[in-house]
Amino acid sequence: MQFETVIGLEVHVQLNTKTKMFCGCPTSFGAEPNAHTCPVCLALPGALPVPNREAFVKAVKLGRAIEATVHTRSVFDRKNYFYPDLPKGYQISQLHHPIVEHGHLLIDYDDGTQKKIGITRAHLEEDAGKNIHDGSVSKVDLNRAGTPLLEIVSEPDLRSANEAVLYLKKLHAIVRYLKISDANMQEGSFRCDANVSIRPRGETKLYTRVEIKNLNSFKFIQKAIEYEVARQSEAWEDGEYEQKVWQETRLYDSVKNETRSMRGKEESADYRYFPDPDQTAVVLDSSIWQDAAELPELPDQKRARYIESWALSAYDAGVITADLDLVAYFEDLMKHKIAPKNAVAWLTTELLGRLNKSGIAIGSTPISPTQLAELITRIEDNTVSAKAAKEVLDEMILSGLSADGAIDKLGLKQVDDDGAILSAIEEVLTANNDSLARYQNGETKLFGFFVGQVMKTSGGKANPAKVNTLLKQRIG
Ligand SMILES: [Zn+2]
Repeated sequence: MQFETVIGLEVHVQLNTKTKMFCGCPTSFGAEPNAHTCPVCLALPGALPVPNREAFVKAVKLGRAIEATVHTRSVFDRKNYFYPDLPKGYQISQLHHPIVEHGHLLIDYDDGTQKKIGITRAHLEEDAGKNIHDGSVSKVDLNRAGTPLLEIVSEPDLRSANEAVLYLKKLHAIVRYLKISDANMQEGSFRCDANVSIRPRGETKLYTRVEIKNLNSFKFIQKAIEYEVARQSEAWEDGEYEQKVWQETRLYDSVKNETRSMRGKEESADYRYFPDPDQTAVVLDSSIWQDAAELPELPDQKRARYIESWALSAYDAGVITADLDLVAYFEDLMKHKIAPKNAVAWLTTELLGRLNKSGIAIGSTPISPTQLAELITRIEDNTVSAKAAKEVLDEMILSGLSADGAIDKLGLKQVDDDGAILSAIEEVLTANNDSLARYQNGETKLFGFFVGQVMKTSGGKANPAKVNTLLKQRIG
């Protein structure tokens, strides 16, 4: 049977406010356990939470960036559950009156087309602490308890693991452009729960959804969803859908590449939400709207501008604008007088290709935009062929030499001089008399062979365009 996959995502974004959601404790990462705590985030009796204004400004910005409805009035509720890292015994969240509703974003396919994905809501809440399991002892660190989170919930509009990843990449880019979170996935400041179900193609009814919790890398999200879709489809094909697929929470094990049950329906939590009696409804005043009024150029706008002003393909523009570090590098590169097409190819294919192999992020590249621009200029002014320039780039990374320095060291300066090229041509023709005769008898495909031989004779240094022209003149 043909199945359709239905996926909705819940993303928790840790906002980069200076202090926690309801108290003045710092939110910085890496302090001694429990150093960043106070009576409010420790939930001592009598402590009263006071909402963080900065968190609201950041939530409003996100709401505007996804063209959502931003509510002037929102209400905090208590979500009750017991867990050792939650000292209050409840989390303060927004259930019935979230700050942001009904937005959307566009995901970018490789072929340049886009698809609109609905965003149901985004609400403010506080994070829990962390349990640290150390041999037979479990410890609780409450530094993270009370850190502001924006939970962004998508509509079940995603139809494959690939679409889920495209959605997350776009949302990640928007959050980074807005500078409302560092969105560091390894440190958990951008993490995702995926709701996955399948249905026979053509049906519109939604079947049982399984939630996969706490996914924190694009690769794992892709694999976890693919595994879960395969598990559900197999159960259906085997006639065991009812027995094997029920509403539950599963965890993804990246070592075994599988999902497994964390808690089932019978243990599923009843959160007994009710409005937090410690707080009144929050009404945004004009100063918050003013502070959230200015948005930076967002990924889609930047992408459109790159296509418009530099004639980039939609695909290339999408690749670059997905990552702010890449954007910064590319825009620096374009301050030099080089062709955009060359800038894109040398940045995304050549430099990124080499960095990825060594596991280096573009933010830590040893080659500055100015150095790369210098190399591209040497290709454009025919000092070096594009082919030899690849060796030059390797040498620049290895030795730290400038483009000119590396070209000199490797002796790869392109031979542009007609005389030198003509003598190489003569040498090749003399050595390949038979081939020349066959060429003159109509075997025109041998032309490429001669070009190759002349390039080889010149040690790869002859200007290929010039070799073509002169050879054509010589043998017709
Ligand atoms: Zn505190």
